Amino acid sequence: MKKNKIEFSDDVCYSKTLKMKLYLKLTLTCACSIAGIAAFVTGITFGVVHFKNSSGQGGFDSNTSSHISTEIFSGEDIPVQPEYNDSGLSYISYRVKKGDMIGFIADEFGVTQDTIISVNNIHASRLIQIGQYLKIPSMPGILYAVREDGETVESISKKYNVDAQKCSSVNNLGLSEKLSAGKSLFVPYAELDWVTRQEINGDLFTKPLKTRRFYYSSMFGWRTSPFDSSKRTFHGGIDMACAKGTPIYAALPGVVSVCGDNAIYGKYVIVSHHSGYKTLYGHMNEILVRKGQFVDTNTMVGRVGSTGMSTGPHLHFTVYKNGRSINPANLWK
Ligand SMILES: [Zn+2]
Repeated sequence: MKKNKIEFSDDVCYSKTLKMKLYLKLTLTCACSIAGIAAFVTGITFGVVHFKNSSGQGGFDSNTSSHISTEIFSGEDIPVQPEYNDSGLSYISYRVKKGDMIGFIADEFGVTQDTIISVNNIHASRLIQIGQYLKIPSMPGILYAVREDGETVESISKKYNVDAQKCSSVNNLGLSEKLSAGKSLFVPYAELDWVTRQEINGDLFTKPLKTRRFYYSSMFGWRTSPFDSSKRTFHGGIDMACAKGTPIYAALPGVVSVCGDNAIYGKYVIVSHHSGYKTLYGHMNEILVRKGQFVDTNTMVGRVGSTGMSTGPHLHFTVYKNGRSINPANLWK
């Protein structure tokens, strides 16, 4: 059985010499396969590198581009590629050009948006950058990282409702081989679950204030303390300043898990959602829900106030994912 390890490196893309070497290796590999000298082929490492629109088309420098809606993540943290046998899976590299959108690129290469998002570990589809490279597999599917020890190609394929045999051969793994947590495999024809897709598309939450009469008085991240200008503090949410009494709505359906009052957030509510999400609404003038209550995005959880550590009427809104605060601006419509 011929076994080729496909190794992909972004550095490869920039070197013509390397590209030639790789091409030669690839050609050799193919020649060997044809000749049936499988023994020589085993273990040869090669990269499949293909350029499209990479030949110096000017004006696409990400630094000077006015195309602000896109940024592609560098791919440094892309999961380690699994070893593939010769089951038809290979990768090409595509350089993003002005006007590209993930959907268009996917269509052009006969894969899905999910494929490109997953393989390139893109966390926000709004943020892609001209001039950077995307890895595009030769078939649609997603990269899957084994969550717990003991999962098998069979169980994973069942989860995504795809052909287990195909998944097995693409990854060169036995159908019922027990896999260890963290192992990455390519699941042909699988699609991302809807939560992941919404997270990536940035439309998981709605804004907790439906009025447009507010402004962001403080964003997520490090800032000078509003109470002591000599101190830098981390702001784990977003502050939306508006008139006292403005209705506050749940940003995602869920269950009220806390209705509290403390020195920092004043009157606050925490709502628990699916997938490890929680949202906190602070400094309220008035709380309008009770613990255990189911809420949706039309439920008023309270009204804007200035209770707790606050310098004026505003909503402090925090999103937690598995206990850690994350930037809400990446997740709402
Ligand atoms: Zn705040």
